Amino acid sequence: MLSAVETGPDRTSDTPAHVPLRPAVEALPPYVPGARPTSGEQLWKLSSNENPYAPLPSVVEAIARAAAETNRYPDMYATELVEALAAFVGVDPEQVVVGNGSVAVLAHLLNAVVDAGDEVVFPWRSFEAYPIAVSVAGGRSVTVPLGADGRLDLPAMAAAVTDRTRVILVCTPNNPTGPVVHADELDELLAAVPQDVMVVIDEAYLEFVRDAAVPDAVALLARHDNVVLLRTLSKAYGLAGLRVGYAIAAPRLAAGIRAVSTPFGVSHVAQQAALASLEPTAQAELMERVDALVAERARVQAALREQGWDLPDSQANFVWFPLGERTMECAAQARRAGVLVRPFAGDGLRVSIGEVEANDAFLEVAATWL
Ligand SMILES: *Cc1c(COP(=O)(O)O)cnc(C)c1O
Repeated sequence: MLSAVETGPDRTSDTPAHVPLRPAVEALPPYVPGARPTSGEQLWKLSSNENPYAPLPSVVEAIARAAAETNRYPDMYATELVEALAAFVGVDPEQVVVGNGSVAVLAHLLNAVVDAGDEVVFPWRSFEAYPIAVSVAGGRSVTVPLGADGRLDLPAMAAAVTDRTRVILVCTPNNPTGPVVHADELDELLAAVPQDVMVVIDEAYLEFVRDAAVPDAVALLARHDNVVLLRTLSKAYGLAGLRVGYAIAAPRLAAGIRAVSTPFGVSHVAQQAALASLEPTAQAELMERVDALVAERARVQAALREQGWDLPDSQANFVWFPLGERTMECAAQARRAGVLVRPFAGDGLRVSIGEVEANDAFLEVAATWL
């Protein structure tokens, strides 16, 4: 007769014949990445809010140097990068946590504070990674509709807070609609929300913002222990392919996020590329490119207004078309015209600001949608 160790514990007839996935995982919405051209296709890729500029030569050199050292593990805590980021932002290194893109940092911070059934409040439509990260962490998504102009409704978000709320996600500029949250609106939210609710300000597109009414989030952090900032080198810094994001938080929260982070989550190559990008001369060149993209955004927005569009005021590197039921058809039409865009079925379509020729090709398509 076999012992229990050899047969495993008793199984009843209703034991499934496969390994069950967690119900929360079975129910996850898919993350739909921006479309990519298949090999040989000549298409402008305006579907993922990427920076159209290739990395600076100094950054490519740092990557090549680091590539020759990849038999070694990276510095687990990315000490040098954390120190450089802290100096750059003007906070203590204890307050900075890096991760494999800010999407990973978001997952880690949710894992650090969300228990089973806890609520996370966020605007919708917003960044599609939010509901996925909340479910994976075991939390419950509480979505608050955007205002008609594609802006976050912060009073409604404050009103959605309950005893179970652990986190509020504030995406500014909001992906995919583009508008920013203003300082007075955020002050009111922070005054209304209990001190034990984490308020995450996702500033993925910070460097593209030119609206002067936005908050100084780092100054807010000094006044509110519950505020956490999320930033990334994927967009303005053009390092989307290397995956470097970071959180800035009070030291106690930063330590909690660090504790649940994937060990060695940021590769040595990514750390070195990020460090090279933060060098003052590189930094200056990169911000000139951001200025050029902001100028392109203004040109595209003016041309669209001229065509007769009345769209949300984007402060990021993309524009939003609330096309409703026509969304998928318009996206297909853009593709036939050589432009990849990011449609959200039944809702609207996001178009990144890219190369001048790409933006021109897109403007021609947009004129036909009216
Ligand atoms: C692109 C984006 C990020 C950054 O993602 P990474 O993982 O750092 O590449 C974070 N938040 C929002 C809202 C974004 O659009």
